[in-house]
Amino acid sequence: MEQRLIKEEIREQFYLYKNKFDITENITLSFKGIGNSAIYTWFDRIIIQNITVNQWIKYPQRTKFVIIHELVHAKFKELQNPFYVLLGLAPAAVSLKYAMRELRANTIAHEQLGCNVEVLEDYFTNFYNVNSNTKRNLAMGYVNGVTNIKLIKDNPIWNKQAIEDAVNFFTSEFPSLRKISRQKIDQIKSTFIQQL
Ligand SMILES: [Zn+2]
Repeated sequence: MEQRLIKEEIREQFYLYKNKFDITENITLSFKGIGNSAIYTWFDRIIIQNITVNQWIKYPQRTKFVIIHELVHAKFKELQNPFYVLLGLAPAAVSLKYAMRELRANTIAHEQLGCNVEVLEDYFTNFYNVNSNTKRNLAMGYVNGVTNIKLIKDNPIWNKQAIEDAVNFFTSEFPSLRKISRQKIDQIKSTFIQQL
């Protein structure tokens, strides 16, 4: 299929889910870069990289997963602090908040794709590129595919239970997140619950 047509179809999907999420702001979708990721960034822009675009022919659910994931970030205006990005390091409470944002975007993408376990496993096993729960990955809120699959299978719908379970998991499983105060943890929990 011609690149122009692929991009047209992806753009169609983008608007479909943008409307579904009632996002009224103008969000610019662009195709740039050779990697397999995507980003929601400053000035309400979503950028999708080439490898993600090219999944559309054989694995459209992977491209859809990415689109929905980024639109969830856009809906909640979730930008990472550029200073922490540069450092590859954030305070533990910020890391927990980032981890919760990533899990919410992933869980909602899974929900929107019909809670299909095969799609979930394919995405996180064959496409997603965070392979380990290193301190640096965790600091920016990224957990590996296995952890994503586990958490999303446990709670395939993003609700109060999913939020509580995930916060408990992150703050007990990972030493770097264990030191966050009870008060801060409860604050993060209730922020996500209020956004349901
Ligand atoms: Zn994300």
